Amino acid sequence: MSVLWIKNGRVIDPASKRDAKGDVFIADGKFVKSLSATQKKSAQVIDATGLVVCPGLVDIHVHFREPGQTHKETILTGSQAGAAGGFTTVVCMPNTSPPADNAGTIQLIKTAAAAAPIHVYPTGCITVGMKGQQLAPHGSLQKAGVVAITDDGACVQSNEIMRRAVEYAKMFGLSILDHCQDDSLTEKAVMNEGVVSTRLGLKGWPHAAEDIIVARNIILSRYTGAHIHMQHISSAHSVELMRQAIKEGVNVTAEATPHHIAFTEEALATYDTNLKMNPPLRTEKDRKAIIAGLRDGTLACIGTDHAPHAPEEKDKEFDYAPNGIIGLETALPVCLEILVRQSKFKLSHVIDLMTRKSAEILKLPAGTLAPGAAADVCLFDPDEKWLYKTYGGFSKSINSPWDKQELTGRVKTTIVSGKVVYQNGKMLV
Ligand SMILES: [Zn+2]
Ligand SMILES: [Zn+2]
Repeated sequence: MSVLWIKNGRVIDPASKRDAKGDVFIADGKFVKSLSATQKKSAQVIDATGLVVCPGLVDIHVHFREPGQTHKETILTGSQAGAAGGFTTVVCMPNTSPPADNAGTIQLIKTAAAAAPIHVYPTGCITVGMKGQQLAPHGSLQKAGVVAITDDGACVQSNEIMRRAVEYAKMFGLSILDHCQDDSLTEKAVMNEGVVSTRLGLKGWPHAAEDIIVARNIILSRYTGAHIHMQHISSAHSVELMRQAIKEGVNVTAEATPHHIAFTEEALATYDTNLKMNPPLRTEKDRKAIIAGLRDGTLACIGTDHAPHAPEEKDKEFDYAPNGIIGLETALPVCLEILVRQSKFKLSHVIDLMTRKSAEILKLPAGTLAPGAAADVCLFDPDEKWLYKTYGGFSKSINSPWDKQELTGRVKTTIVSGKVVYQNGKMLV
Protein backbone atom coordinates (compact mmCIF):
# COMPACT_ATOMS: atom_id res chain seq x y z
CA MET A 1 0.00 0.00 0.00
CA SER A 2 1.02 3.55 -0.54
CA VAL A 3 3.34 5.28 1.88
CA LEU A 4 3.83 9.05 2.10
CA TRP A 5 6.56 10.94 3.85
CA ILE A 6 5.98 14.69 4.25
CA LYS A 7 9.37 16.15 5.14
CA ASN A 8 10.63 19.30 6.83
CA GLY A 9 7.38 21.24 7.13
CA ARG A 10 6.12 23.39 9.98
CA VAL A 11 3.68 20.84 11.36
CA ILE A 12 0.66 22.42 13.07
CA ASP A 13 -1.86 20.08 14.69
CA PRO A 14 -3.98 22.01 17.21
CA ALA A 15 -5.59 18.77 18.45
CA SER A 16 -2.22 17.58 19.82
CA LYS A 17 -0.86 21.12 20.43
CA ARG A 18 1.91 20.39 17.97
CA ASP A 19 3.51 23.38 16.25
CA ALA A 20 7.09 22.57 15.28
CA LYS A 21 9.27 21.72 12.36
CA GLY A 22 9.04 18.03 11.56
CA ASP A 23 7.77 15.20 9.40
CA VAL A 24 4.37 13.58 8.92
CA PHE A 25 4.07 9.92 7.95
CA ILE A 26 1.20 8.20 6.19
CA ALA A 27 0.67 4.50 5.47
CA ASP A 28 -2.44 2.82 4.08
CA GLY A 29 -4.42 6.06 4.14
CA LYS A 30 -3.81 6.77 7.82
CA PHE A 31 -1.32 8.78 9.83
CA VAL A 32 1.37 6.68 11.51
CA LYS A 33 3.96 7.59 14.18
CA SER A 34 6.91 6.51 12.10
CA LEU A 35 7.91 4.50 9.05
CA SER A 36 10.08 1.40 8.96
CA ALA A 37 13.35 1.51 6.98
CA THR A 38 11.71 -0.47 4.14
CA GLN A 39 8.68 1.81 4.12
CA LYS A 40 10.96 4.86 3.96
CA LYS A 41 12.68 3.43 0.88
CA SER A 42 9.41 3.01 -1.01
CA ALA A 43 7.72 6.16 0.30
CA GLN A 44 6.51 8.98 -1.90
CA VAL A 45 8.36 11.96 -0.45
CA ILE A 46 6.80 15.42 -0.36
CA ASP A 47 9.25 18.20 0.45
CA ALA A 48 7.39 20.64 2.70
CA THR A 49 10.29 23.02 3.31
CA GLY A 50 8.83 26.49 3.89
CA LEU A 51 5.29 25.10 4.07
CA VAL A 52 2.78 24.64 6.85
CA VAL A 53 1.54 21.05 7.19
CA CYS A 54 -1.84 20.91 8.95
CA PRO A 55 -4.97 18.75 9.07
CA GLY A 56 -7.11 19.06 5.94
CA LEU A 57 -9.50 21.97 6.38
CA VAL A 58 -13.09 21.24 7.44
CA ASP A 59 -16.10 23.35 6.36
CA ILE A 60 -19.50 22.52 7.83
CA HIS A 61 -21.33 25.00 5.58
CA VAL A 62 -21.26 24.67 1.77
CA HIS A 63 -23.86 24.68 -1.01
CA PHE A 64 -23.07 22.27 -3.86
CA ARG A 65 -26.38 22.69 -5.75
CA GLU A 66 -26.78 19.02 -6.65
CA PRO A 67 -29.43 17.84 -7.36
CA GLY A 68 -31.27 20.45 -9.37
CA GLN A 69 -29.00 23.42 -10.03
CA THR A 70 -25.92 21.78 -11.46
CA HIS A 71 -25.31 24.73 -13.79
CA LYS A 72 -24.09 26.56 -10.66
CA GLU A 73 -22.05 23.76 -9.08
CA THR A 74 -21.98 19.99 -8.79
CA ILE A 75 -20.76 17.87 -5.92
CA LEU A 76 -17.70 17.12 -8.07
CA THR A 77 -16.84 20.74 -9.01
CA GLY A 78 -17.60 21.99 -5.49
CA SER A 79 -15.32 19.30 -4.07
CA GLN A 80 -12.57 20.24 -6.50
CA ALA A 81 -12.88 23.88 -5.38
CA GLY A 82 -12.65 22.57 -1.82
CA ALA A 83 -9.53 20.50 -2.55
CA ALA A 84 -7.90 23.52 -4.24
CA GLY A 85 -8.63 25.54 -1.10
CA GLY A 86 -7.12 22.91 1.22
CA PHE A 87 -10.48 21.48 2.36
CA THR A 88 -10.73 17.73 2.78
CA THR A 89 -14.11 17.52 4.57
CA VAL A 90 -17.23 19.55 3.81
CA VAL A 91 -20.87 19.41 4.89
CA CYS A 92 -23.36 20.38 2.18
CA MET A 93 -26.65 22.14 2.80
CA PRO A 94 -29.98 20.57 1.79
CA ASN A 95 -31.50 23.55 -0.10
CA THR A 96 -31.11 21.70 -3.37
CA SER A 97 -33.85 21.23 -5.90
CA PRO A 98 -35.75 19.27 -4.72
CA PRO A 99 -34.68 19.96 -1.13
CA ALA A 100 -32.96 17.06 0.65
CA ASP A 101 -35.89 16.29 2.93
CA ASN A 102 -36.07 12.55 2.19
CA ALA A 103 -33.82 9.49 2.22
CA GLY A 104 -33.91 9.11 -1.59
CA THR A 105 -32.36 12.53 -2.21
CA ILE A 106 -29.73 11.87 0.47
CA GLN A 107 -28.85 8.61 -1.28
CA LEU A 108 -28.42 10.48 -4.56
CA ILE A 109 -26.11 13.02 -2.88
CA LYS A 110 -24.12 10.23 -1.25
CA THR A 111 -23.62 8.46 -4.57
CA ALA A 112 -22.22 11.65 -6.13
CA ALA A 113 -20.17 12.31 -2.98
CA ALA A 114 -18.54 8.87 -3.23
CA ALA A 115 -16.93 9.95 -6.53
CA ALA A 116 -15.72 13.30 -5.14
CA PRO A 117 -12.02 13.92 -4.34
CA ILE A 118 -12.80 14.99 -0.74
CA HIS A 119 -15.17 13.82 2.02
CA VAL A 120 -18.64 15.28 1.44
CA TYR A 121 -21.30 14.80 4.11
CA PRO A 122 -24.97 15.59 3.50
CA THR A 123 -27.45 17.32 5.78
CA GLY A 124 -31.23 16.91 5.69
CA CYS A 125 -34.02 19.47 6.01
CA ILE A 126 -35.70 20.47 9.26
CA THR A 127 -39.09 20.73 7.54
CA VAL A 128 -40.66 19.24 4.42
CA GLY A 129 -39.66 21.31 1.39
CA MET A 130 -38.01 23.79 3.81
CA LYS A 131 -41.42 25.38 4.13
CA GLY A 132 -41.24 25.63 7.91
CA GLN A 133 -44.54 23.83 8.49
CA GLN A 134 -44.23 20.08 8.73
CA LEU A 135 -41.23 18.24 10.18
CA ALA A 136 -39.14 16.23 7.70
CA PRO A 137 -38.50 12.57 8.67
CA HIS A 138 -35.33 13.12 10.71
CA GLY A 139 -35.09 9.45 11.65
CA SER A 140 -35.01 8.19 8.09
CA LEU A 141 -32.68 11.06 7.12
CA GLN A 142 -30.35 9.94 9.88
CA LYS A 143 -30.47 6.32 8.67
CA ALA A 144 -29.72 7.59 5.17
CA GLY A 145 -26.54 9.21 6.50
CA VAL A 146 -27.09 12.91 7.21
CA VAL A 147 -24.74 14.49 9.77
CA ALA A 148 -27.09 17.33 10.79
CA ILE A 149 -30.50 18.85 10.18
CA THR A 150 -31.00 22.34 8.73
CA ASP A 151 -33.30 24.48 6.59
CA ASP A 152 -30.38 26.81 5.72
CA GLY A 153 -31.46 29.52 3.33
CA ALA A 154 -34.70 29.58 5.26
CA CYS A 155 -35.47 29.82 8.97
CA VAL A 156 -38.33 28.03 10.74
CA GLN A 157 -40.49 30.93 11.91
CA SER A 158 -42.85 29.07 14.23
CA ASN A 159 -41.32 28.63 17.68
CA GLU A 160 -43.60 25.66 18.25
CA ILE A 161 -42.40 23.84 15.14
CA MET A 162 -38.78 24.70 15.94
CA ARG A 163 -39.22 23.33 19.44
CA ARG A 164 -40.59 20.03 18.06
CA ALA A 165 -37.78 19.96 15.47
CA VAL A 166 -34.95 20.30 17.97
CA GLU A 167 -36.50 17.66 20.23
CA TYR A 168 -37.07 15.31 17.29
CA ALA A 169 -33.56 15.75 15.87
CA LYS A 170 -32.10 15.21 19.35
CA MET A 171 -33.85 11.82 19.57
CA PHE A 172 -31.73 10.73 16.60
CA GLY A 173 -28.52 12.28 17.96
CA LEU A 174 -28.54 15.02 15.33
CA SER A 175 -27.69 18.70 15.74
CA ILE A 176 -29.79 21.46 14.19
CA LEU A 177 -27.95 24.11 12.18
CA ASP A 178 -29.98 27.28 11.94
CA HIS A 179 -29.99 30.21 9.54
CA CYS A 180 -31.16 32.84 12.04
CA GLN A 181 -33.57 35.28 10.41
CA ASP A 182 -36.95 36.61 11.48
CA ASP A 183 -38.72 36.95 8.12
CA SER A 184 -41.26 39.48 9.34
CA LEU A 185 -38.42 41.99 9.87
CA THR A 186 -36.60 41.35 6.58
CA GLU A 187 -39.21 41.40 3.85
CA LYS A 188 -37.58 42.48 0.56
CA ALA A 189 -34.44 43.49 2.51
CA VAL A 190 -31.17 43.30 0.57
CA MET A 191 -28.51 44.79 2.88
CA ASN A 192 -27.85 45.84 6.48
CA GLU A 193 -30.32 48.41 7.81
CA GLY A 194 -28.68 51.68 8.76
CA VAL A 195 -27.30 54.93 7.41
CA VAL A 196 -25.62 53.19 4.48
CA SER A 197 -28.84 51.50 3.31
CA THR A 198 -30.57 54.88 3.50
CA ARG A 199 -27.76 56.49 1.50
CA LEU A 200 -27.82 53.74 -1.15
CA GLY A 201 -31.61 53.64 -1.29
CA LEU A 202 -31.73 49.91 -0.54
CA LYS A 203 -34.13 48.12 1.80
CA GLY A 204 -32.42 47.25 5.09
CA TRP A 205 -32.22 43.95 7.06
CA PRO A 206 -31.88 44.94 10.73
CA HIS A 207 -29.49 42.89 12.87
CA ALA A 208 -32.40 42.55 15.30
CA ALA A 209 -33.89 39.98 12.89
CA GLU A 210 -30.88 37.74 13.52
CA ASP A 211 -30.64 38.52 17.24
CA ILE A 212 -34.26 37.55 17.87
CA ILE A 213 -33.79 34.07 16.37
CA VAL A 214 -30.41 33.55 18.06
CA ALA A 215 -32.12 34.38 21.37
CA ARG A 216 -35.06 32.08 20.51
CA ASN A 217 -32.67 29.23 19.74
CA ILE A 218 -30.68 29.76 22.96
CA ILE A 219 -33.94 29.62 24.93
CA LEU A 220 -35.11 26.47 23.11
CA SER A 221 -31.73 24.78 23.56
CA ARG A 222 -31.77 25.59 27.26
CA TYR A 223 -35.35 24.27 27.54
CA THR A 224 -34.84 21.03 25.58
CA GLY A 225 -31.11 20.33 25.99
CA ALA A 226 -30.84 19.99 22.22
CA HIS A 227 -27.73 21.22 20.42
CA ILE A 228 -28.38 24.15 18.09
CA HIS A 229 -25.64 25.61 15.91
CA MET A 230 -26.09 29.18 14.64
CA GLN A 231 -24.87 29.61 11.11
CA HIS A 232 -23.04 32.66 9.70
CA ILE A 233 -23.34 35.04 12.68
CA SER A 234 -23.27 38.62 11.36
CA SER A 235 -24.30 40.83 14.28
CA ALA A 236 -22.40 42.10 17.33
CA HIS A 237 -25.47 41.63 19.50
CA SER A 238 -25.78 37.98 18.43
CA VAL A 239 -22.13 37.44 19.41
CA GLU A 240 -22.94 38.90 22.85
CA LEU A 241 -26.00 36.63 23.23
CA MET A 242 -23.85 33.61 22.34
CA ARG A 243 -21.11 34.65 24.78
CA GLN A 244 -23.60 34.82 27.63
CA ALA A 245 -25.29 31.51 26.68
CA ILE A 246 -22.00 29.63 26.46
CA LYS A 247 -20.93 31.05 29.82
CA GLU A 248 -24.16 29.64 31.26
CA GLY A 249 -23.46 26.22 29.73
CA VAL A 250 -26.23 26.23 27.11
CA ASN A 251 -25.65 23.62 24.37
CA VAL A 252 -25.19 26.07 21.50
CA THR A 253 -22.40 26.81 19.04
CA ALA A 254 -21.94 29.31 16.24
CA GLU A 255 -19.81 29.98 13.19
CA ALA A 256 -18.48 33.02 11.30
CA THR A 257 -17.82 33.36 7.58
CA PRO A 258 -14.66 34.77 5.96
CA HIS A 259 -16.74 37.50 4.23
CA HIS A 260 -18.30 38.81 7.44
CA ILE A 261 -14.83 39.30 8.94
CA ALA A 262 -13.36 40.78 5.74
CA PHE A 263 -15.97 43.33 4.63
CA THR A 264 -18.53 45.79 5.94
CA GLU A 265 -21.62 47.32 4.35
CA GLU A 266 -19.44 50.23 3.17
CA ALA A 267 -18.16 47.93 0.41
CA LEU A 268 -21.64 48.00 -1.15
CA ALA A 269 -21.18 51.58 -2.38
CA THR A 270 -20.48 50.14 -5.86
CA TYR A 271 -23.66 47.99 -5.79
CA ASP A 272 -21.43 44.95 -6.53
CA THR A 273 -23.76 41.94 -6.35
CA ASN A 274 -20.76 39.79 -5.38
CA LEU A 275 -21.08 41.46 -1.99
CA LYS A 276 -24.76 40.67 -1.64
CA MET A 277 -25.26 37.91 0.87
CA ASN A 278 -27.67 36.74 3.51
CA PRO A 279 -27.21 37.65 6.31
CA PRO A 280 -25.81 40.88 4.90
CA LEU A 281 -22.44 42.51 5.50
CA ARG A 282 -22.83 44.79 8.49
CA THR A 283 -20.92 47.57 10.26
CA GLU A 284 -17.32 47.82 11.45
CA LYS A 285 -18.60 47.33 15.01
CA ASP A 286 -20.21 44.01 13.98
CA ARG A 287 -17.12 42.90 12.05
CA LYS A 288 -14.89 43.63 15.07
CA ALA A 289 -17.32 41.80 17.40
CA ILE A 290 -17.24 38.70 15.19
CA ILE A 291 -13.43 38.71 15.24
CA ALA A 292 -13.53 39.12 19.05
CA GLY A 293 -15.99 36.20 19.20
CA LEU A 294 -13.59 34.01 17.24
CA ARG A 295 -10.73 35.13 19.48
CA ASP A 296 -12.39 34.17 22.79
CA GLY A 297 -14.13 31.02 21.49
CA THR A 298 -17.68 32.42 21.51
CA LEU A 299 -17.78 31.60 17.82
CA ALA A 300 -16.48 28.07 17.45
CA CYS A 301 -15.41 27.88 13.84
CA ILE A 302 -15.17 29.32 10.34
CA GLY A 303 -17.75 28.19 7.76
CA THR A 304 -17.51 29.54 4.21
CA ASP A 305 -21.20 29.41 3.22
CA HIS A 306 -19.80 28.67 -0.30
CA ALA A 307 -22.83 29.65 -2.39
CA PRO A 308 -22.35 29.42 -6.16
CA HIS A 309 -24.63 31.32 -8.55
CA ALA A 310 -24.41 31.57 -12.34
CA PRO A 311 -23.07 34.86 -13.81
CA GLU A 312 -26.38 35.67 -15.53
CA GLU A 313 -28.11 35.37 -12.14
CA LYS A 314 -25.66 37.61 -10.26
CA ASP A 315 -25.39 40.08 -13.15
CA LYS A 316 -28.66 41.82 -12.24
CA GLU A 317 -29.77 44.89 -10.40
CA PHE A 318 -28.80 44.66 -6.74
CA ASP A 319 -32.40 44.16 -5.61
CA TYR A 320 -32.88 41.15 -7.87
CA ALA A 321 -29.54 39.31 -7.65
CA PRO A 322 -29.43 36.15 -5.53
CA ASN A 323 -27.57 36.10 -2.20
CA GLY A 324 -24.20 34.51 -1.61
CA ILE A 325 -20.66 34.10 -2.84
CA ILE A 326 -18.25 31.24 -3.48
CA GLY A 327 -15.55 30.92 -0.83
CA LEU A 328 -13.74 27.59 -0.71
CA GLU A 329 -10.74 28.64 -2.79
CA THR A 330 -10.17 31.89 -0.89
CA ALA A 331 -11.11 31.06 2.74
CA LEU A 332 -7.62 30.21 3.98
CA PRO A 333 -5.78 33.26 2.56
CA VAL A 334 -8.63 35.57 3.68
CA CYS A 335 -8.52 34.18 7.24
CA LEU A 336 -4.72 34.45 7.27
CA GLU A 337 -5.01 38.10 6.26
CA ILE A 338 -7.82 39.18 8.58
CA LEU A 339 -7.15 37.00 11.60
CA VAL A 340 -3.39 36.34 11.59
CA ARG A 341 -1.86 39.43 9.98
CA GLN A 342 -4.43 42.09 10.90
CA SER A 343 -5.84 40.75 14.19
CA LYS A 344 -2.70 38.98 15.48
CA PHE A 345 -4.28 35.54 16.04
CA LYS A 346 -1.72 32.75 16.29
CA LEU A 347 -1.53 30.72 13.09
CA SER A 348 -2.34 27.55 15.05
CA HIS A 349 -5.51 29.22 16.42
CA VAL A 350 -6.79 29.98 12.91
CA ILE A 351 -6.03 26.44 11.79
CA ASP A 352 -7.92 25.18 14.84
CA LEU A 353 -10.97 27.27 13.80
CA MET A 354 -10.83 25.70 10.33
CA THR A 355 -10.12 22.07 11.30
CA ARG A 356 -10.56 20.50 14.74
CA LYS A 357 -13.21 22.93 16.01
CA SER A 358 -15.37 22.61 12.88
CA ALA A 359 -15.18 18.81 12.97
CA GLU A 360 -15.97 18.72 16.69
CA ILE A 361 -19.32 20.54 16.29
CA LEU A 362 -20.77 17.68 14.21
CA LYS A 363 -18.48 14.93 15.58
CA LEU A 364 -16.93 14.37 12.16
CA PRO A 365 -13.89 12.08 11.94
CA ALA A 366 -11.53 14.85 10.78
CA GLY A 367 -9.38 17.73 11.89
CA THR A 368 -6.31 16.02 13.37
CA LEU A 369 -2.93 14.59 12.36
CA ALA A 370 -3.10 11.98 15.15
CA PRO A 371 -1.79 8.49 14.35
CA GLY A 372 -4.67 6.23 13.31
CA ALA A 373 -6.78 9.07 11.91
CA ALA A 374 -7.62 9.30 8.20
CA ALA A 375 -4.67 11.01 6.52
CA ASP A 376 -6.28 14.25 5.35
CA VAL A 377 -3.66 16.98 5.04
CA CYS A 378 -3.36 20.55 3.78
CA LEU A 379 0.07 21.92 2.84
CA PHE A 380 0.25 25.64 2.29
CA ASP A 381 2.75 28.43 1.86
CA PRO A 382 1.65 31.14 4.33
CA ASP A 383 3.64 33.86 2.55
CA GLU A 384 3.15 33.21 -1.16
CA LYS A 385 1.40 36.06 -2.95
CA TRP A 386 -0.82 35.06 -5.85
CA LEU A 387 -3.54 36.46 -8.03
CA TYR A 388 -6.89 34.75 -7.49
CA LYS A 389 -8.97 34.48 -10.64
CA THR A 390 -12.42 32.96 -10.67
CA TYR A 391 -12.03 32.09 -14.35
CA GLY A 392 -9.72 29.12 -14.30
CA GLY A 393 -10.71 28.32 -10.73
CA PHE A 394 -12.31 25.00 -9.91
CA SER A 395 -15.81 26.12 -8.88
CA LYS A 396 -18.33 26.20 -11.72
CA SER A 397 -19.36 29.69 -10.60
CA ILE A 398 -17.41 32.95 -10.44
CA ASN A 399 -19.37 35.00 -7.89
CA SER A 400 -16.47 36.05 -5.68
CA PRO A 401 -15.58 39.54 -4.41
CA TRP A 402 -11.92 38.44 -4.37
CA ASP A 403 -11.76 37.92 -8.13
CA LYS A 404 -8.52 39.36 -9.56
CA GLN A 405 -7.28 40.26 -6.07
CA GLU A 406 -3.82 39.50 -4.79
CA LEU A 407 -4.02 37.11 -1.86
CA THR A 408 -1.26 36.01 0.51
CA GLY A 409 -1.06 32.36 1.48
CA ARG A 410 -1.56 29.58 -1.02
CA VAL A 411 -2.53 25.94 -0.76
CA LYS A 412 0.11 23.78 -2.46
CA THR A 413 -0.98 20.19 -1.80
CA THR A 414 -4.16 18.56 -0.51
CA ILE A 415 -4.13 14.95 0.61
CA VAL A 416 -7.29 12.92 1.28
CA SER A 417 -7.06 9.53 3.00
CA GLY A 418 -3.39 9.34 2.08
CA LYS A 419 -3.88 10.21 -1.57
CA VAL A 420 -2.61 13.44 -3.15
CA VAL A 421 -5.74 14.89 -4.78
CA TYR A 422 -4.51 18.41 -5.55
CA GLN A 423 -1.04 19.79 -6.11
CA ASN A 424 0.34 23.09 -7.45
CA GLY A 425 -2.79 24.18 -9.26
CA LYS A 426 -3.68 20.76 -10.65
CA MET A 427 -6.43 18.32 -9.65
CA LEU A 428 -4.84 14.86 -9.65
CA VAL A 429 -7.98 12.72 -9.37
ZN1 LIG B 1 -27.90 30.74 5.50
ZN1 LIG C 1 -25.75 28.78 3.60
